[in-house]
Amino acid sequence: MEEQITPIVWAEEPNTWPAAPEWMSFYRLLETEACPRRVALKSAMYPHLWNRPGYPPKLRLPALFGRVVHLALRTLGAKFAQAGCSSASEIGAVTLLKNLGGLSQVVNKCVDSVFAEQAENPRGGASRKALFENLKARLPQLREQVQIKLRYLQFGKVAPVAVSHRKQGAPPSQTLDGSHSEVELRAPSLRWIGVADYVALFGNYCEIVDFKSGNPEQEHKLQILIYALLWARDQNLNPDARIANKLTLSYETGTIDVPAPSQTELRELEEKIQTRTELARNALGTLLPDARPSLDNCRFCDVRHLCSAYWKPQTQQQFAQHELPSSDYVDLEMRIVSQQAMKSWKGIVTSSQILQPGTHILLRTSVFDNSLDEVLPSAMGHQVRILDGRLSNPSADDFPAIITLSERSEGFLLKSRRSE
Ligand code: SF4
Repeated sequence: MEEQITPIVWAEEPNTWPAAPEWMSFYRLLETEACPRRVALKSAMYPHLWNRPGYPPKLRLPALFGRVVHLALRTLGAKFAQAGCSSASEIGAVTLLKNLGGLSQVVNKCVDSVFAEQAENPRGGASRKALFENLKARLPQLREQVQIKLRYLQFGKVAPVAVSHRKQGAPPSQTLDGSHSEVELRAPSLRWIGVADYVALFGNYCEIVDFKSGNPEQEHKLQILIYALLWARDQNLNPDARIANKLTLSYETGTIDVPAPSQTELRELEEKIQTRTELARNALGTLLPDARPSLDNCRFCDVRHLCSAYWKPQTQQQFAQHELPSSDYVDLEMRIVSQQAMKSWKGIVTSSQILQPGTHILLRTSVFDNSLDEVLPSAMGHQVRILDGRLSNPSADDFPAIITLSERSEGFLLKSRRSE
C-alpha cells in the first residue's frame, strides 16, 4: 500500500553544512575527491523533508536492482548458515529453499522490502510506481543473478566472534572459520569502515568477495584491496591479523581475481589511503565545501538542483562547449511568468546548456504529479530547476521551446539563491 508522503517542491540548501565524517568509506572518499559540495549536500540534515540523515535519494533502477540481489543473498546466506548448510546445492539447502516458497518467492519478497525501505522517501513519487513495476517485470533476471552468485558461495556455520568474546589462549583463528555475508569491517586506526559482501575463512584460506551489478571498472580493484586492508586492521573481527589470500570481484559475466596484497603492500596502501583521507576530511570540514562542476561530476549528481555552482549560466555554457546533451532530456532553470493553461506555465530561461538565458519557454508539468501545480500560482517570479525534462522545439523561431516533466523528470522551486 502506498504511504501518503509529502513530495518535495522546494530546492533549499541545508541550514548548516555537516562536519567531516568521523569514519571514511570507499565511495565517500571517491565522491569527496570528485566534489566535496556533493557529499556535503547529500549528507546534511533536512528535517523539514524527512527524519532520516541526508537528502532523500533519487530512485534509480540499476541501484534498486543491485540492492534486491544483495538483500536476497544476505537473507538466504543467513538462513542456509543457520540451518547448517555449507552450500546452496546441498539437499538441506534445496529443501529449505522449497520451504521458503522457492527462489522466485524469496526474490519477490526482497523487491517488496526494497520498496518498503523507500516508503518514507518524499522524492520521486511519480517514478516510484513505474520503477516498482519495472523491477517486478525483471524478476527472472533478478532470480538468475541471485542463482549465479549463490552457486559461488559456501556458507559457514560459525559467525565471526569479537575479540572480547574469545577465551584467553584460544587457538588462533578457529573461532573465525566459516563464511559470512555483508561483513562490516572497521579499522579504528584509520577511522575507515567498509562492508564486504562475503568473507570466507577456512583454515589458512581467507577470501573476500565483492559482488558487482555493472561492468568491471578500475576502481573496483582498489575497493577490494581496501577491504583487504580493513580486514587486516580489524582487531575486533580479526584479532590474529590474518591477511586475505584471495580477492574476487564477481560480475554478471564472470569473476576477476585481484592479486591479494602482501603485508608490505598493505602498509603502502595504508599510507596512501591515510594521505587521501586527510585531504578529503579537510575538504569537507570547511564552512562552504568546494563545488567542482564538471560534466562527469554533475551528470548524475542527485543533488544538483540544490547546487548554486551547477546552475550558474557560465557553468552551463561551459558544459555546452564540451558536449551537448545526447538525448532530449535536459536540465534547465527558468523563471515562471504566468499560467497559460492547466499544467502549462509560461516562463523565461535563466540557465541552460541548450537555450540562451532570456529565451521564452513553456513548462508542461507532470501528469503523474500535481505538487508543483499546487504551488506555482503563488510562486510567480520564482525560479524552477528542472532535472531531466524533455525538451522540444528548442530552435523553432515561431513557437516557444517546450519542456515537459515526465515520470523520470523532477522540478523544484527555488526559494533563495545563496551567494558563493
Ligand atoms: S552539481 Fe556538480 S558541482 Fe554541484 S554538487 Fe553536484 S557534482 Fe558538485
